[in-house]
Amino acid sequence: MARQRIAVLGGGLGALSTVFHLTDQPDWVARYDITLYQQGWRLGGKCASGRDLRDGYGHRILEHGLHLFGGFYNYSFAMLRRCYETLGRPQGHPNRTVWDAFTGLDAIALMDRDKNANGDTVFDPWWINFEPAPGLPGEGFEPPTVTAMMQSLIRMVGVATGTVAHHQHHAKPDDGGFLEQALQMVEGLVLRIADDIADDLIRDLIAHIEAYATSTAAKAGDAVPSKTVDRMLMTVYLVQTVLWGMVEDDVLDNGFDPLDRYELKDWIRRHGLEVAKHYKRDVPDPKAAAEALANSPIVRCSYDYVFGYKDGDPGQPGQGAGTALRGFLRLAAGFRGHVFYTMRGGMGDVVIAPLYQELARRGVKFEFFSRVERLRPGEGDVIEAIEVGVQARTASGPYQPLIDVPLAGWPADAPLPCWPAQPQWDQLEDGQKLKAEGIDFEAPWSPVLETRTLLAGQDFDQIVLGIPVGELKRVCADLPPVKPKWQAMFDALGLTRTIALQLWFRRTNEDLGCDYPGRTLTGAAQPLSCWADMSHLLSRETWKAQERPQSIAYFCGQMRGPAAQDAAEAQAATDLAATLSRSWLMAEAATLWRAAGAGDIGIDPAVLYDPEDRAPDRRFEAQYWRANTTPSEMYVQYLPGSLKARLRAQESGFGNLFLCGDWTRNGLNAGAAESAVMSGVICARAIWGDHSPIAAEVDVLA
Ligand SMILES: Cc1cc2nc3c(=O)[nH]c(=O)nc-3n(C[C@H](O)[C@H](O)[C@H](O)COP(=O)(O)OP(=O)(O)OC[C@H]3O[C@@H](n4cnc5c(N)ncnc54)[C@H](O)[C@@H]3O)c2cc1C
Repeated sequence: MARQRIAVLGGGLGALSTVFHLTDQPDWVARYDITLYQQGWRLGGKCASGRDLRDGYGHRILEHGLHLFGGFYNYSFAMLRRCYETLGRPQGHPNRTVWDAFTGLDAIALMDRDKNANGDTVFDPWWINFEPAPGLPGEGFEPPTVTAMMQSLIRMVGVATGTVAHHQHHAKPDDGGFLEQALQMVEGLVLRIADDIADDLIRDLIAHIEAYATSTAAKAGDAVPSKTVDRMLMTVYLVQTVLWGMVEDDVLDNGFDPLDRYELKDWIRRHGLEVAKHYKRDVPDPKAAAEALANSPIVRCSYDYVFGYKDGDPGQPGQGAGTALRGFLRLAAGFRGHVFYTMRGGMGDVVIAPLYQELARRGVKFEFFSRVERLRPGEGDVIEAIEVGVQARTASGPYQPLIDVPLAGWPADAPLPCWPAQPQWDQLEDGQKLKAEGIDFEAPWSPVLETRTLLAGQDFDQIVLGIPVGELKRVCADLPPVKPKWQAMFDALGLTRTIALQLWFRRTNEDLGCDYPGRTLTGAAQPLSCWADMSHLLSRETWKAQERPQSIAYFCGQMRGPAAQDAAEAQAATDLAATLSRSWLMAEAATLWRAAGAGDIGIDPAVLYDPEDRAPDRRFEAQYWRANTTPSEMYVQYLPGSLKARLRAQESGFGNLFLCGDWTRNGLNAGAAESAVMSGVICARAIWGDHSPIAAEVDVLA
C-alpha cells in the first residue's frame, strides 16, 4: 500500500496530538509520510511560550497566559508521559520525567467579595482545598459516571465548606472545632444517602441536606462568623440545585449535551427557583434567592476560569450549561492525583518542546515559516489545493527552532530545550533585515516572500487541519459556499480576546506582604481575574546578576472586542492591555501585596524588577503584558447553543480533510488543552478509519 502523504496545517496541541497518535503506531512509517506546516518560528499556538533572549533578562518565560492542567487531563498526561519516557532525558535533568515537569496543586481560592468597615468592596478569598485522589492522571481514560459525579458533588459540600480553618487562618474563631465536626456529620449523612443515588431518592436527599444544613448552621451560628455559615448554606443550595436540575433535565438518561442550549446562569436560576420554592420555607423571596445563587462566588468564578463572557464582556455571561457542568464536574470530581497541575517551566518548554523533539526524532517533517493562506475545494468533495505563504527561508538546511537554556544548579550537560520568544534570525536568509523590519510572523497580515501551491495527489493525500477557528474564517473562506455547515460553525462558535500580565519582583512574597505564596486565585476584579504566584519558575530562568528577581506573579483574563484585522488594531489592543493592567494594579494590587508600598500602579514601582534599572515611573515597562488578539489567538468558547455546530474530525464534508483543535466536537468541547489533545486522538483514529468515540468523549451514565 502506498504511503499516505499527510499535510498537517498548524502546530498547536490539537495537531501535535494527532501526529503523536498517528506516529505512535508501530507501523506508521510504512503507512504515513507526515509534513507539518507552521507559521513563524514556533509550535504551540495558544499554548506557545518563548524565552526572552535580551541581555540581562535571564531567559525569562513569556507566556500567552496563565496555564493550569486539570488532574482529569488523562489524554494529555498519558501522551506527555509517553513522550517524556521515549525522549529519555538523562538523570539529573531538571525536567526529566513528566512528574518533574508538573507539580500538583490542591487548592484554589475564589475571590469572594465583602464590605469593609468603610463600606468599600474588598476581596475575601474562599479557599477550596481538595484532598489528593488515588492514582495519577493518564492512568486510565474513562470519565467518572454521571452517578459518581453526583455523589462527588454531594461530597463538595464538605470540600467547599470544610476549609474553614484555612479560610480563617488569620483569625481562626474559637469554636472548639464545632463547625468542622458538624460539617463532617453533614458529609457523612449525605454520603450514606448518596450510596444509592436513584432519581426518586434525590428529592429526599435534597430535603435531608436542607434540614441538616439549616440545623447545623443554626447551631454553628453563635460560634463562627456568619460568612462561613453563609458559604456553607450557599454551597448546599448550589449542590441541591445542580442535583435537582440534573434529575429534571434527564442527565441520568441523556447525558449533558441536551443542556447545552441553556446558558449556565439561566439554568441555575431556573432550577434554583424550584429548589427554593419546594424546600426553603424560611426564604421569603425564592426568586431573589435563585438570583443570588446564580451570582454566588463558585458560579461567578467558573466564568472567569474559562473566559466565559460573550465578546469578552463580563456583562454577557456565556457558558452552555451542559458543557460547563460536564467540564466542572470532571474537574472537581474526576481527577486522579491532584485537582490541578502547574508547570515547572513555560508551557512551550514543558509541553510543546518535548512533543516537537519526539516527533522530529520519529521522522515527522516540520516546515516552519509556512503560513497557510487558503484551502481550495475541488470536484467530488475534496480539497484539491493548499496555498502556503513562504514567510522566510533558512540560510542553509532545515530551521532548528529550539535553544538550550542552561539552568543554574542543574548539570551543565542537561540544559532545558526551549522556544525563543523570537525567531533565530541568524538561521534565516536576510535574517538581520527581517529583524530590523520588526516583522511579526504570527500575524496573518505580515508579508510573505511567495505563495506555494500544494496539490492533492501530488504533494498530499490527506490534510489534518489544526488551524484555529478564528483564522479558519480566512483560510477556509471558500468552504461555506460549498458546505454550509462551515458557515453555521463560524457563526455559532464564540471567540474572545484574552489579556495576560507577568510581573517580576525584587522582593520575596513575604516582603511584599503576599498572603498567598504558591497559590492560584480566580474571581478577582475584571479583567485580570485570575492570578497565580509563579515564583517557582525562578529556578527555570537564568538570572545571574547579583540583584535578581525574588518572586513572580502571572495574571490572565478576557478582554472585550473582536479579533484584530491589521497591525494597527493589534497594536491598539496591546496598548489597551498595558493601560488595563496598570489601572487594575492601581485598584487591586493592595489586595495581593499588603506591603508593596504605593505608587501610580498601586505599588511602589521600586519593588518591580527591571534588568535595565529604569527610573521608577518606567519600571513597569520591564514587565510583560500582551493582548491575544490575532484571529488565531482568539480563545474558543462554548456559548449556549453552539455545540451542535461543532464539527467532529471526519465531518469536514471533504473526503481528504480531517479536523482537530479545541473548536472541534471532541467530547469536552471547551477551550482547554485536554479538549485539543482529545481532538487529536479522535482525528488520528478517523484517519485510520476508526470513527468510534473515545472513552471520555461520551458521558457514562451509570
Ligand atoms: C490566555 C489563555 C489561557 C489559557 N489557559 C489554559 C489553561 O490554563 N488550561 C488549559 O487547559 N487551556 C488553556 N487555554 C486553552 C488552550 O491554550 C487551547 O485550548 C489550546 O492551545 C488549543 O489548541 P489548538 O491546537 O486547538 O489551537 P492553537 O493552540 O491555537 O494552535 C493552532 C496552531 O496553528 C497555527 N496557525 C494558525 N494560523 C496558521 C496559518 N494560517 N498557517 C499555519 N499555521 C497557523 C498556530 O500558530 C498554532 O501553532 C488557554 C488559552 C488562552 C488563550
